Amino acid sequence: MGTRVDTNLLPELKDYGAVNVEACFNCGNCTAICPLADGDHPFPRNVIRLIQVGMKDKLLTSADPWLCYYCGECSETCPKGAEPGETLMAVRRWMTAQYDWTGLGKKFYTSKVWEIGTILFVALFVILGFVFFHGPVVTENVELNTFAPVEVIHILDWLMAGFLSFFLLTNVFRMFLKILIKGTDIRIPISAYILEAWNLVLHVFTQKKYSECDNRRPWIDHLILVFGYGTMFAIIVLFLPWFQTDNIYPITHPQRWLGYLATIALLYGAGQALWGRVKKVRQMHRFSHLSDWVFPILLMVTTITGILVHILRYAGLPMATYVTYVIHLAVLAPMLILEVPFGKWAHMAYRPFAQYFIAVRKRAEEYQGALEAASAAD
Ligand code: SF4
Ligand code: SF4
Repeated sequence: MGTRVDTNLLPELKDYGAVNVEACFNCGNCTAICPLADGDHPFPRNVIRLIQVGMKDKLLTSADPWLCYYCGECSETCPKGAEPGETLMAVRRWMTAQYDWTGLGKKFYTSKVWEIGTILFVALFVILGFVFFHGPVVTENVELNTFAPVEVIHILDWLMAGFLSFFLLTNVFRMFLKILIKGTDIRIPISAYILEAWNLVLHVFTQKKYSECDNRRPWIDHLILVFGYGTMFAIIVLFLPWFQTDNIYPITHPQRWLGYLATIALLYGAGQALWGRVKKVRQMHRFSHLSDWVFPILLMVTTITGILVHILRYAGLPMATYVTYVIHLAVLAPMLILEVPFGKWAHMAYRPFAQYFIAVRKRAEEYQGALEAASAAD
């Protein structure tokens, strides 16, 4: 593996939100205090050291920045105010851009014009799609499925899910190449990938490592948000014909209470994220990059417009329902298409994969150790 020194690494990371990294004098206090660091992963100090000496290749092949959940304890106690927690946050943004082969991630993270401009572009595309291709407009009563036929919307949903899965998974593959191929010296047997697959499932659904932070409240908040997001995503992509209906159901119908539960979770999660950034009480909210605002804002607007569509439909207001529905999709589409593979949301995939890759490498090292011990004994 190359050890080329890149003097541009630190200035580059500043574009992604790193602050005051140069103040670090490597005392190691941050690693000692971090509840998630251990002997194999002495972050954040090791990551900061790599930045200071410009070891870009080595940083790129490390999974350690993904192990930090930004509790902020290291930043609160750093004697030099070097903001190690925020530095790791900036590195994760930078890594997201580096994994992304399209180059869009980099543009979104480093250019406000690109980030806002692309969201507006996709939103306009959706609006124009409805302007030119909507179904008949029934004004006597609400017929959403006549205005926007659910079969068509469902096909578009699948196309969108395929699009974002393709980009996200190809980026995850590039992460794999960097961490387990370029950044690992030993051969990894296929069995290691299979036997550690449970790790991936566990971390996708629970973000278990997050629960090991001293303050478990952010983990619980995050779980609530993921529940809301995951439930709504499954409803939209898998069960849309059941969800987007012109029928009026009683409150006890599962279509309603499942939707309400997911909506409450989304409102809570997005509201928490936005309120935290406004109040700046927690360390993790003290510095806010534009990307930290965009995702919760889009999520909040999507949720509120979704609630409005529901209320207007039940209130029997056809035109208001149709217009709000178009606005709802014009916000939902850029949030999913741009944030999932290229932006803030991608963290939710990279973190569990980092845990998985580390577990795979550890198992491979154990194999290797056992083999070497056996051949030494021969
Ligand atoms: S970031 Fe702060 S606590 Fe960590 S090694 Fe540097 S100076 Fe010490
Ligand atoms: S922010 Fe928390 S989890 Fe991240 S390195 Fe600092 S102490 Fe560790």
